[in-house]
Amino acid sequence: MRLDEIILRIEKARILYNPHHIVHLVAVSKYATTDQIEALYKCGQRAFGESKVQDLERKQNELDRLPLDWHFVGNLQTNKINKLIDLKPSLVHSIESLDQALEFDKRLITKDTKQKALMQINSSYESTKAGVAPDQAALTYRLIREQCTNLELVGVMTIGANSADQKVVAKSFELTKKIYDELSSEGASVLSMGMSSDFELAISHGANLLRIGSVLFDE
Ligand SMILES: *Cc1c(COP(=O)(O)O)cnc(C)c1O
Repeated sequence: MRLDEIILRIEKARILYNPHHIVHLVAVSKYATTDQIEALYKCGQRAFGESKVQDLERKQNELDRLPLDWHFVGNLQTNKINKLIDLKPSLVHSIESLDQALEFDKRLITKDTKQKALMQINSSYESTKAGVAPDQAALTYRLIREQCTNLELVGVMTIGANSADQKVVAKSFELTKKIYDELSSEGASVLSMGMSSDFELAISHGANLLRIGSVLFDE
């Protein structure tokens, strides 16, 4: 089973980093079928992540008899915010600006509901990636916390640099960890980073929430 292999690899990296450190796993199921999701569920996996609102809706519906914990990890278009709120994911990983946070908050207030979320940091400075620039991140995080009443930031998320050079990837994780540490005294408790190609490196930089897709589901 792929899940067992991955859990073993996570465990090794976790213990090397700090035996007291706790790491959670979101299985990113964006390329997986509902049968594949159900198979992982039967092995004990509860948290799954989708990157498109319409996919989240469909898979939630098809699997609504299972007690799954859904995360939204993708970039969010304004016209999909209302739908996403109605789907009540346990965590939205990808708030990418103060403006988007305010827009999200306004709709949450109208619907009289709350949503836990992370702020995405563009730690690799890649123009193809969403997120707040690292030098603006702490300030933006604080502004969102101050100005939003129903959108509740609980930490940060990043996607490691798109590079074969581990040092370059490590740098983006290091930078994010520094910002996370700065914000942890203000209540940030979730550091979402690490994907199929770099999750061990992410753990070694303090990640406590991994988003792993292809190595879990590819056959
Ligand atoms: C697809 C995706 C993942 C998982 O990527 P893999 O390389 O398949 O593990 C993680 N985070 C985000 C934001 C994604 O879009």
